[in-house]
Amino acid sequence: MTARIIDGKAIAAELRARAASEVSRLRRESGLIPGLAVVLVGNDPASEIYVRNKHRETQAAGMVSFEHRLPADVSQAELLALVGKLNRDPAVHGILVQLPLPKSLHTETVINAIDPAKDVDGLHPQNAGRLAGGFAALSPCTPLGCIILTKSVHASLEGLNAIVIGRSNLVGRPLLQLLLNENATVTIAHSRSRELSKLCARADLVYAAVGKAEMVRGDWIKPGATVIDVGINRLAAADGKNRLVGDVAFAEASQVAGAITPVPGGVGQMTVACLLVNTLRAACAIAGLPKPAV
Ligand code: NAP
Repeated sequence: MTARIIDGKAIAAELRARAASEVSRLRRESGLIPGLAVVLVGNDPASEIYVRNKHRETQAAGMVSFEHRLPADVSQAELLALVGKLNRDPAVHGILVQLPLPKSLHTETVINAIDPAKDVDGLHPQNAGRLAGGFAALSPCTPLGCIILTKSVHASLEGLNAIVIGRSNLVGRPLLQLLLNENATVTIAHSRSRELSKLCARADLVYAAVGKAEMVRGDWIKPGATVIDVGINRLAAADGKNRLVGDVAFAEASQVAGAITPVPGGVGQMTVACLLVNTLRAACAIAGLPKPAV
């Protein structure tokens, strides 16, 4: 079997276009222009790239993008003051503090300071708790993207066996909750799990969010399963340049799986598209307008 390649690039482009069309409808009908504020502390090269992409895509969707760059030695009090200002700013509907923060800052305190209504990264305990309780919540963007990619293959996830490898607050845990909301039967695995290959072999849906290059091998995959690879790992290539690979051994797994996401061109493309959707949803909720059609 050769797996169908799930085209994250095309699916993300379609989602961005739907978000842009909803933004223009909102602007026309209610004069509301969603605004996203991104806060970058320091100059981590990967974070710089992510922030640049978010800025470009936010503007391309017709939203307002506010960028705040702070030096790596900014104090906790100064960062909290900025978050407080953004919480109060009526032009800002979404606030994202780019992680990781420098070690001198306390990430949990900063996230807890964000108004949950503007928490478009879905990391505030109020949103995480609401999601875990099965209530409406702003959910983290990467897991949302994983669900949309899965639904491009399966109209319904009801009753499917899923395994999520990785239990981070950013990916694994919220993905578990989103899959439960879709009525999948979910196993969540982590670094202490035993016989991971056997757990994987039972799964119709495999989500790898570990951060270990090509850890999930082809012979772990049940024939025909759908494989969503969240991992982004940089490997040094023979020409001295870096090569991006996922957490799944793509060449092997694509011989067994029914459908699989590539790296790059899979989940990564969805994260920013879902951030636009979350900002749009937050703007509508704050303004007391109905949920947007995206
Ligand atoms: P993380 O916070 O480091 O969490 C990694 C998880 O993997 C942990 O729960 C850890 O278990 C588990 N793990 C580590 N080694 C394992 C092993 N040998 N077997 C089973 N589980 C193992 O990472 P993250 O933030 O969730 O990110 C995971 C990957 O996704 C990274 O490659 C990251 O770059 C990528 N990512 C991509 C996007 C995107 O937009 N595409 C977004 C976010 C993250 P313990 O809890 O027991 O330590």
